[in-house]
Amino acid sequence: MSARVLILGGTGEARRLAGALAGRPGLEVVSSLAGRVRAPALPAGEVRIGGFGGVDGLAEYLRCSRIGAVVDATHPFAAVITESVVVAARRVGVPLLVLRRPGWTPSAGDDWHWVRTPAEAARALPALGERVFLTTGRLGLAAFATLDRHWFLVRSVDPPEPPMPRRMELLLARGPFTLPGERALLTGHRIDVLVTKDSGGEMTAAKLRAARELGIPVLIQARPPAPDAATVATVEAAVHWLDRALPTP
Ligand code: NAP
Repeated sequence: MSARVLILGGTGEARRLAGALAGRPGLEVVSSLAGRVRAPALPAGEVRIGGFGGVDGLAEYLRCSRIGAVVDATHPFAAVITESVVVAARRVGVPLLVLRRPGWTPSAGDDWHWVRTPAEAARALPALGERVFLTTGRLGLAAFATLDRHWFLVRSVDPPEPPMPRRMELLLARGPFTLPGERALLTGHRIDVLVTKDSGGEMTAAKLRAARELGIPVLIQARPPAPDAATVATVEAAVHWLDRALPTP
C-alpha cells in the first residue's frame, strides 16, 4: 500500500515540495489550499480546496484519508491553520513537519520598525510618513481605513474589500518582484514609508532592498509565535524528513 502525504499549501515552497515528490513510487501526495485566491497557482498532483472545519475536521480528514505524514508549508502568517494541524496531528498520531522559510533580518542602512499587528503599524505610521506602500495583504487593510491624511499604494493578489483606506491606489500583482521594479514603484509614487510583514523569502524581498537604497523607513509586522513542532527551512530538508518519517514501500 502506498503512503499518503498531506501538504498544507498556499506558498511557493508547498508547490515546490509537491513537485519534488511527484511521481515517486509508493507515494501519494495531496496538496491542500484554503481557497482564498481566485486563480491559485496549482501544485503538481492531487489538490483539495477549502477549510477542513477546524481541529476536529482536520483530525477526521487525517484519519479517514489515511494520511501517513503532514507537512505544514503554509505562509508564516497563516497561524490558525498551523495551530489546527499541530493539535490535530498530535491527536491522531500523524507525524508533522513544519516547512517555514526564515524571516528577514535588517542589515546596515535599514530603518526598520517592528510591530506586532496591523493596528500597531497604523498607530506608528503618522510619525514616519504620509505616502505609504502597503504590502501586508488585502485582509489587513481595515486597520488603516481611518487614516485620512495618508495616501496608500496597496499591492495585493486579489482585490481587497472594505473597510480600506479612502485615499489609495490598488496594484494587483503577484511576485516575484525585482529590485529595478520596486525602485521604480517607490520613486514613481513618491513613497516615504513601506508597511509590510516579515514573510521572508526571496520572491518579495526586493522592496526591502529598494527601501534601504532610498532611505525609506519600514514598518514591519513580526511573525506569530513559531509552532511547537519539528521545523525545517527548505524543501530539500522536508523531502529528507519525509524519507525518514514514511515507511519504505
Ligand atoms: P489562517 O488564518 O491560518 O487560516 C484560516 C482558515 O483557513 C483555517 O482555519 C482553515 O479553515 C483554512 N485554511 C488555511 N490554510 C488552509 C489550507 N492550506 N488548506 C485548507 N484550509 C486552510 O490562514 P490565512 O492566513 O487566511 O491563509 C490562507 C492560505 O493562504 C494559507 O494556505 C496560506 O498558506 C496562504 N497564504 C497566506 C498568506 C498570509 O499572509 N496570511 C500569504 C500568502 C499565502 P478550517 O479551520 O475550516 O480548516
